[in-house]
Amino acid sequence: MKKLPRLSRLMVASLIVCALAVAGFSTHPQSAPVKAIVGGTLIDGFGGRPIPNSVIIIEGQRIKAVGQVGTLAIPKNAEIISTEGMTVLPGLWDMHVHLMINGHADYDHWDKTYPSLFESVIMPASAKQLLMAGVTSARDLGGPLKDSISVRDRINRGEIPGPTLYVSGPFIQHAPYPGTELFRWGVTGVEDARAKVRRLAEAGVNCIKLIDQDQMTMEEVMAVVDEAHKHRLPVVGHSHRPDEIRRGLKAGVDCFEHTGLSSAPEYPADIIEMIRERTAKMNLGPLFWTPTIEGLFNYEYLRDNREELDDPSWKVGLPENIIADIRESISHPDRLPYFQLTPSRRPTLARKFQQLRESGVVLLIGTDSGIPMKFHSQSTWKELEVWVNRLGVDPMMAIRAATYWPALAMKVDRDVGTVTEGKYADIIAVRGDALRFINLLQRVDIVIKRGQRYK
Ligand SMILES: [Zn+2]
Repeated sequence: MKKLPRLSRLMVASLIVCALAVAGFSTHPQSAPVKAIVGGTLIDGFGGRPIPNSVIIIEGQRIKAVGQVGTLAIPKNAEIISTEGMTVLPGLWDMHVHLMINGHADYDHWDKTYPSLFESVIMPASAKQLLMAGVTSARDLGGPLKDSISVRDRINRGEIPGPTLYVSGPFIQHAPYPGTELFRWGVTGVEDARAKVRRLAEAGVNCIKLIDQDQMTMEEVMAVVDEAHKHRLPVVGHSHRPDEIRRGLKAGVDCFEHTGLSSAPEYPADIIEMIRERTAKMNLGPLFWTPTIEGLFNYEYLRDNREELDDPSWKVGLPENIIADIRESISHPDRLPYFQLTPSRRPTLARKFQQLRESGVVLLIGTDSGIPMKFHSQSTWKELEVWVNRLGVDPMMAIRAATYWPALAMKVDRDVGTVTEGKYADIIAVRGDALRFINLLQRVDIVIKRGQRYK
């Protein structure tokens, strides 16, 4: 192409920008610049008493002001969204999702059949389902690197609907299981461990997911955590087996996942002691833990009450043939090898959950959504339900474990996690009193993310 003189090039560039603007293209979804969310009772995420007759003014992507009817003026040009009779709260977080899977019962089959559709179809479908369920932020743990980054960035650019994603890319572990090399990276030695973490950091991941750290050398585990922290990335550690926890704690893992140890009745005393020592070190900040408990808790119920497996919400965005494949795979929930041990684990969950609470960790809402029979459209509210109605967690604490604390854990609390002036307008609302009846969150009426209304 012939080089244009400087001025002409500038003119051409601005003409293109104008043309795009006229055609309705923009880096962010179109939305009225000023919105007023008026009337509902606001749970702002800080844990204090809810604010009745609340008013939230949104300008563009951010919250401009928070107040009450009668004292906070509503701008004349504002689009008014009534939340009369509703609970209004920060958009939910799910700290443990798997966008690349959709509840299919056979991982081997899934990993062989669908990787070419992860980026274009499957992960976007999962993301949309989460958002429509009121999840405006989600941490995706263990996925193919390029696909994870691409889906996250397309959501951020407003090209596809979904929660703001925090992705780990591939699991870091001793050795990938056969056929899973796309999303599991093995490490051999300290230098290799550091190099792999660097590669992920340079690709732009938001955290590092460590798994099977009991099969790595302690030096390798230390190297992974140290290198991640050098790049200011939190490390999320799988914790099903005792030595995964012990090693993770020793190396300085920031957040643990699952309520582990299979059917063991409780966490051993030395582990609880280690956790207590860690949580007492205030200078290190809170130790986070995502128990992902509802799938285990609800399995037997779901096995015997299958209607919700037919709920259309989990089919959104998926092609017919994949829906049929998933349905077929879960047509006999009682026969699935994946769940055979689950009934024997359930009676141990409350005790282990309680041990974690008492040892001073900050528990987070996360679900493992995407694993067999666990759908992105249903998992998050069910985790809240189990915490509140089965495990006796105060509903305000449970909501904060899905709003305030996850934002802090991912170091983005300046921008999200509460309904506060200056933060992104990630806000949901549901008819009724969600503090009294947490199950209401299964059908949110309003979903706003970064000022854009999606529901
Ligand atoms: Zn998981």
